[in-house]
Amino acid sequence: MRMLTSGDKDIRIAAEAIKAGRLAAFPTETVYGLGGDAFNVSALARIFEAKRRPRFDPLIVHIADLSTLNMAADVGSLPRSLRAKLDVLCRNLWPGPLTLVLPKQASVPDLATSGLPTVAARFPSHPVAQKLIRYSTGAIAAPSANPFGYLSPTKASHVQEQLGELVDFIIDGGRAGIGVESTVLDLTEEPARMLRPGGAPREAIEAIIGHVETGSPPAPHSAPQAAPHSPGQLASHYAPKTPLFLHDANAMLGLSFCPDEAYLFFDEETRGAWNMRNMPNVFGADGDGRIFTLTHGADKGTADKTLEAAANLFDILHIIDNAKPSAIHAQKSPDIGLGAAINDRLTRAAAKRN
Ligand code: AMP
Ligand code: MG
Repeated sequence: MRMLTSGDKDIRIAAEAIKAGRLAAFPTETVYGLGGDAFNVSALARIFEAKRRPRFDPLIVHIADLSTLNMAADVGSLPRSLRAKLDVLCRNLWPGPLTLVLPKQASVPDLATSGLPTVAARFPSHPVAQKLIRYSTGAIAAPSANPFGYLSPTKASHVQEQLGELVDFIIDGGRAGIGVESTVLDLTEEPARMLRPGGAPREAIEAIIGHVETGSPPAPHSAPQAAPHSPGQLASHYAPKTPLFLHDANAMLGLSFCPDEAYLFFDEETRGAWNMRNMPNVFGADGDGRIFTLTHGADKGTADKTLEAAANLFDILHIIDNAKPSAIHAQKSPDIGLGAAINDRLTRAAAKRN
């Protein structure tokens, strides 16, 4: 594995590797991706192998130019009303943290889409990601650059720790600004359906195309064995190794301090109130490194706080997990803005215990 800078010369080195069927991890605005040529079956197989990702979990194809969307998606086969929604979403939210599920082009290997007739496509806004895509093959398949099921990487060092020699290159582009994965929106049916909450808040999507459904649709009686609508969105995912317990603010306030556990508060207000009630004097205000807060300061609106919290979430969970406490107690986020994505990730992390 070789660490690269985000300078142009280094991006070209990674791009050449991708063209040759090798893998490069790279920064995006959501989390770091593990990229390979979307049309090269052996590169795709290497991605699944490096992550130990089950083959039923399809990859997102990243593009860096709207005109190349046609390489991955058969937009022409969408009904007119959905094509209009696609247009307006692309104009308003691309490039950005929104992944669209669309009818697939026959030329996209089945391995990329786990055999589905649809493909997930995203146009990232990160300049390094855009250059890497343009300098290589125009379409990079890239899941998050972490072992399957574990916390997503928001820094190059996370990728290095987790994948090490399984990846040929890592481009270090600093911290991922958004910090949670993209929102996945299925645009193959009316109404559109949010399969995974993420960096593009529901409010922003609904302001553009109106109401969207959430989660998997109820299985039709005629097809009880139907494949999951959003394969890969398993109950347990995005999880630290440490058991995680999710609480609302009140339940959090009721927890007594246990020195070998870690506490992750959403805001300083809750943490301050908890400290007053529960923190024995022998420990410092941060419980000697056991207490963490996702947002700082009281001057922001709640939606802005969820942006700050999302940017810190995986980074802090990595720090906590490396310290190996016996449990993590995490406070739920308010359910607006990026709060839905934060709560989704924490809920899946907590599901690992069961
Ligand atoms: P990741 O790249 O690890 O952030 O995961 C991408 C996720 O996007 C997968 O786990 C799926 O849940 C979802 N996804 C990708 N392709 C499709 C598709 N064709 N249909 C539905 N969901 C998809
Ligand atoms: Mg992932």
